[in-house]
This record gives sequence, C-alpha cells and structure tokens, in this order.
Amino acid sequence: MSLEELKPGIYAWVQPDGTWWLNNAGAVAGDDGMLVVDTCATAARTMRFLDALPERPIRWAVNTHQHGDHTYGNSLLPVTTVLIGHERMREGLRVDPIIDGCPPFWQPVPDWGPVSRRLPDLTVTSDLTVHVGGRRVEVRHPGRTAHTPGDLIAWLPEERVLFAGDLVFAGLTPLVFMGSVTGALDAIDWLAALDPEVLVPGHGPVQTGDGIARVFDDHRRYYRHVLSVAAAGMVDGLTPLAAARRADLGEFAGWADAERLVLNLHRVYADSEGRDLDLVAALADATAWLGGPMRTAV
Ligand SMILES: [Zn+2]
Repeated sequence: MSLEELKPGIYAWVQPDGTWWLNNAGAVAGDDGMLVVDTCATAARTMRFLDALPERPIRWAVNTHQHGDHTYGNSLLPVTTVLIGHERMREGLRVDPIIDGCPPFWQPVPDWGPVSRRLPDLTVTSDLTVHVGGRRVEVRHPGRTAHTPGDLIAWLPEERVLFAGDLVFAGLTPLVFMGSVTGALDAIDWLAALDPEVLVPGHGPVQTGDGIARVFDDHRRYYRHVLSVAAAGMVDGLTPLAAARRADLGEFAGWADAERLVLNLHRVYADSEGRDLDLVAALADATAWLGGPMRTAV
C-alpha cells in the first residue's frame, strides 16, 4: 500500500490489489487541518494509513458509504474528528453485523482487530461543502441509490480531483448488490459530467487522462451486461445463480472478484420483484458459483 500525492496536499491511500476488503482512502490537507476520506477494514490497515499522512490535525472525515472496508477503522480516528456520512450510510453501519465477526463467506476469514462501531457525527442527505484551509471539498450524494443507498463522493472542483468511493472499481468487478444496478449506471454519467482530472476509485489504481473515460465505459458495459443476463434469466425462469452459471463473462472474465456477478444479479432480481435482497442467500450463491469461499488478503 502507498500514499500517493495527487496534487500538492491531496493524497490517495491505495491498497493493491483492491479485491475484497482492500479499499482506497484519501486525505486533503489544508494549512490548519486535514480532511480524511474513508478509513480501512482492519485496525492495522487503518493505523498504517493514518500514520502515513502528514502531521496535521484530522479535523474532518467523510465516509463514502457504509461498507466495512471503508468504515470499520473509523474508531481509530481522533475523538475530536468530526465524522461526516450520509443519513442512510449511518443507519447501514449502525445495523451492520459483520463488524462484530465476519462470516466465513471469505477466506481467510478477516479479523478486523481492535475496532469498534463508530458512526458519523454529522449526517447529510444531499450535499455539503467542507472548507479545508483554502480548499473547497464538495461532499455530494448522487441523488439516488447507486453502490448503496447512502453514497457520497468528495470532489475538489478547483483541483479537479474526485474521490468516488465504490461508485468506481478500476479494473475489478464492480459490486452493487446493496445498491442498484440502474442507479450505479446513472451515477457513472453523473461522475463523468464532473470531468475529473484525477479519479480515485474505491478499489483499484488511481486514474488520470484517458484512463478515466475508459474506466467509466467499463462500468457502463458491465452494468448493461448484468442487466441483460438478468433479463434473459428471468424470461427463462432461472434463479440468479443459474443465470450466472449460464452467462458468459466475456470481456469481464479477467477481472478479479468475478463472483460478484451472482450478487449483482440478486440485486436486479430483487428490484424487479419489488422485494428486499436476502444478503445471506446472495453471498451463499456467490460462494456456490465460485466453488468455495471468496478470497481476501485483508
Ligand atoms: Zn463498498
């Protein structure tokens, strides 16, 4: 893992290889303090991230969404840090059972270490601007459910740096089973309209130049593929698992975490049937498709 200085005082914490539970985080330093974007899954990884940052009081932190790889380390932030999250993100983490012990859907089973559930102090339902020294950090919500119901991005309009959270997975299979496939597809257009110069995805390497448009296009094609596999599966009366087994991953076969196809199909089915997604059933199907637990190196 490494701290990359994207522009003076703007950092990405990049954790290869970006697969399950290995997220990216970030920080924006002003003269009088710093804003942190996300923490990490384990206490050890979060401490490594926080220790790598320049000496500056962490006055604010933003959680891009509720998932543990971005939030379980929250309790390692200084007590004086004002933690910001979307209202729905706060509720998601409040009831998240996985922080209390990870189920054996992943192998080796992750151990988070000494972390405790720390929820945002300040919640938003739309947008908020944080002034970090002279810098403007716009914290924005895509306006609908996308990766999750409570996604936020951190956008620096002057420096044109975008912390996209898990609205973007660069070179890995996107995951939207706790969100919406169509919402995530719309969110890509919303992000692209910002026209960033530097894109920090939630997972995978930082993107610049042509890489940004390419990553956005990858997401559009992948989400359309998921929607078409789901539509064909529903027409033929297949379960999400059966539809995934029949599907050709095609150009996406080389991406890590391919089993997320099963999870993403569960989401399309649940939404089209107007019911809640059964998380445990979806994760069990993903491991069935894979023939064993999902791999993690967290
Ligand atoms: Zn996530």
